[in-house]
Amino acid sequence: MANFFTDNPDLKFHLNHPLMKKIVELKERNFEDKDKFDYAPVDFEDTMDSYGKVLDVIGEICGEIIAPNAEDIDQEGPHVENDRVVYAKGTEENLDAIRKAGLMGITLPRKYGGLNFSIVPYTMAADMVSRADAAFVNIWGLQDCAETIHEFADEEQKEKYLPRFCNGETGSMALTEPDAGSDLQSVMLKATYDEKKKQWFLNGVKRFITNGDGDISLVLARSEEGTKDGRGLSMFVYDNKAHQAIKVRRIEHKLGIIGSPTCELVYRNVPAELVGSRRMGLIRYVMSLMNGARLGIAAQSVGIAEAAWREALEYAKERKQFGKAIIEFPAVYEMLSVMKAKLDAARSLLYETSRFVDMYKAYFHISNERSLEKEERQEMKKYQMLADAYTPLAKGLASEVCNRIAYDSLQIHGGSGFMKDYPIERIYRDARITSIYEGTTQLQVVAALTGLAKGTYLKQIREYEETPLKPELHTYRRTLVAMTEEFEQALMKVQETEDKEFVDFHGRRLIEMAGNIIMGYLLLLDTNRESRFWKSLEVFLRNARSENKANAAFIAASGLSDMGRFKQDEVGEEE
Ligand SMILES: Cc1cc2nc3c(=O)[nH]c(=O)nc-3n(C[C@H](O)[C@H](O)[C@H](O)COP(=O)(O)OP(=O)(O)OC[C@H]3O[C@@H](n4cnc5c(N)ncnc54)[C@H](O)[C@@H]3O)c2cc1C
Repeated sequence: MANFFTDNPDLKFHLNHPLMKKIVELKERNFEDKDKFDYAPVDFEDTMDSYGKVLDVIGEICGEIIAPNAEDIDQEGPHVENDRVVYAKGTEENLDAIRKAGLMGITLPRKYGGLNFSIVPYTMAADMVSRADAAFVNIWGLQDCAETIHEFADEEQKEKYLPRFCNGETGSMALTEPDAGSDLQSVMLKATYDEKKKQWFLNGVKRFITNGDGDISLVLARSEEGTKDGRGLSMFVYDNKAHQAIKVRRIEHKLGIIGSPTCELVYRNVPAELVGSRRMGLIRYVMSLMNGARLGIAAQSVGIAEAAWREALEYAKERKQFGKAIIEFPAVYEMLSVMKAKLDAARSLLYETSRFVDMYKAYFHISNERSLEKEERQEMKKYQMLADAYTPLAKGLASEVCNRIAYDSLQIHGGSGFMKDYPIERIYRDARITSIYEGTTQLQVVAALTGLAKGTYLKQIREYEETPLKPELHTYRRTLVAMTEEFEQALMKVQETEDKEFVDFHGRRLIEMAGNIIMGYLLLLDTNRESRFWKSLEVFLRNARSENKANAAFIAASGLSDMGRFKQDEVGEEE
């Protein structure tokens, strides 16, 4: 039986990270649920055992149901009937299997019907589901909306909506509009309060909304008349199952993730409930919602990359040219080893980020119940900064790695990869979206530059540097120390200009350099725990060192006046 959890030992390795003990203890509040729920764990080992069991079930559903359905879903796709979305047959089967196994809402507290899982095993489930079908993971993953309701809605709303997610209802996140994509401050969908009916109503259009006809929707809308920026926006929850008041005008015809319906939605007097406080929609709630979703896309990227790498490896072993398997040609085996090294590095970054988010979120929820001790407050602050800095880094880098791995995997398939006969043709198309939605790579760089300016990455790099290592690994640390010095020089050169445009101009280069050092350290620490990551560490560092050198040389040779060379002459010219 195919099982995507047991056939990939890297998952168990990341699940058993030493920080998990603290995460579980914080999340389970000293296992207080054990007296209230007979399925609640009694201690750390019991919790880890239950994570393992649930992941094993998800792994089996991925291997036996979701992956086998992926091709048919890609062919059939969803469609619109009477203004409503109808999923492809396989999507319904997948949802049915997930619901029957009780795998929706697993991170929510038990009192709402969830399993109170931490983010790490949830991310792991997303990693596996994405490997099985990158389109389906979008529908499954929109349960992230429940997390935002859990964080910011009032108790009445939590009791109304959260158990429904646990019972298998789906979500959607309606932010984007025709004139508001990367720049969500421009959202115009109007929210008006009817004093007589004591009810908010939404009017306007949203586009590119994944699973737009889902049961429960979080909507960003302009509640403050006359405003034009983010401070006039609020967050609403709309009960689509109860009201069916939105109209799905169309589903987009698109390159990849075809099984995931991307909807254009029309709102005409659609009733909705305000979540949290007015004006905090974009500034606070959407930022939190998007951070969760960005981590989800990082997981999707790693899962797709895993699928692409496996397809390439299998094909390269079987395909013979010039009398031998193509895997024996240096050009092919080098591609495969770099793919695997980048996959391992991106996955390590994904789970490091998930742990940081877990630590921060656990303290956040505890702080809503009681005031934190001084030490706890400091820890919460530390992990909030790390979660904020690492989330765009993980999303930006993992999605680019995913695209590269999908590209190389197709290349290894030669002409056959271009045909619909092999899964890589679909996987390659699916990979493309990861660096676009939930904020393009360019926007992740903008967000990550904040982490750079605050010194969060460098501080964490120093912490990695101080971790005790086996003697045989010291040489790799020396390489990373040298890469850090080179990076600091490049950073200083850019920052001392005090020119924002110059910082933005080199943003991608600086973030790539920092990311390479961080992923290098993570692989080093992984190898320190288990030697089987050694090969990936070596291959990754060789590539990363030369990539960083190229970026450093580019920055060293550039000056403020150089930016003009890159500017397009046509800017501002109208026909
Ligand atoms: C398949 C799919 C599913 C989606 N699902 C959802 C969903 O469920 N909910 C939702 O609300 N939205 C969704 N979206 C919308 C998605 O988040 C946006 O498409 C994305 O954020 C980019 O916005 P845009 O398409 O308007 O591109 P634009 O914002 O117009 O960007 C165009 C280009 O300009 C660059 N750019 C823009 N601003 C800057 C800047 N400040 N610095 C540097 N470069 C910049 C971008 O990187 C990009 O290369 C989905 C989109 C797709 C394609």
